[in-house]
Amino acid sequence: MTDLKKLWEMQQLELKAQQLQKQLKNDTVVKELLQEKKNIENEKQQFKNLEQKYTLLKRKIKEIEDITEGINNKIHSLNDKLYNNSENGNKEIIALQNKINTLKQETLKHEDDELQLMEEQEQLKEELQAMSTDLKDRIKEFLKRREEYYTSQDDIKNQLLEMQNNIEQKFNVLEQEIINKYKQLKKRYQDPVAKVEKGVCTGCRMELTFVSQKKLKREQELVECENCGRLIFIGKEVG
Ligand SMILES: [Zn+2]
Repeated sequence: MTDLKKLWEMQQLELKAQQLQKQLKNDTVVKELLQEKKNIENEKQQFKNLEQKYTLLKRKIKEIEDITEGINNKIHSLNDKLYNNSENGNKEIIALQNKINTLKQETLKHEDDELQLMEEQEQLKEELQAMSTDLKDRIKEFLKRREEYYTSQDDIKNQLLEMQNNIEQKFNVLEQEIINKYKQLKKRYQDPVAKVEKGVCTGCRMELTFVSQKKLKREQELVECENCGRLIFIGKEVG
């Protein structure tokens, strides 16, 4: 039954096509990609937040610098008053000196604050740089994986198309009787056609009766496995 051999080949193609369909529908990679996209969005948000913090810090440092500058100007003009005014009395001199000292203390405190903020700024800068590098790498990797996924999906689709054409061609040369039988059996089995190897039906693994084996060897009619009902043929021919 060479027709059964063709039918079997077609069946194998159908099974392969089914596998490919499954692969096409498998959305594990899609889920992973979506998750990674979310992670990247989160990291981008974190990056933005840090950037904002950095800008605020910069502004704060500038504010302190302005304040210090104001105080220094004040100290300067007080010094002028102290040294260039010969009419100063003792009391006034002491008062001026006290004022200058208080202002100097204030500057020192501001300078301490500024230094601390600058350290924070430096740390943030490093953090931002590391994050930026990481983000770039992750985005690059993400885009690469997405591209690979699209390519493989296209590849599967093309394979499927070719297979379906192939299946149709194989179907077209078969006798209607065989096609009908096959379609009917397909409701019960994924593989309605089974090879017989060493007298055993490879569909159900049962040994065939002598009568069935004789019928098979005659190759004159469609033979069904007495046990499972599959269409059977001698496997050697297919190899
Ligand atoms: Zn069987």
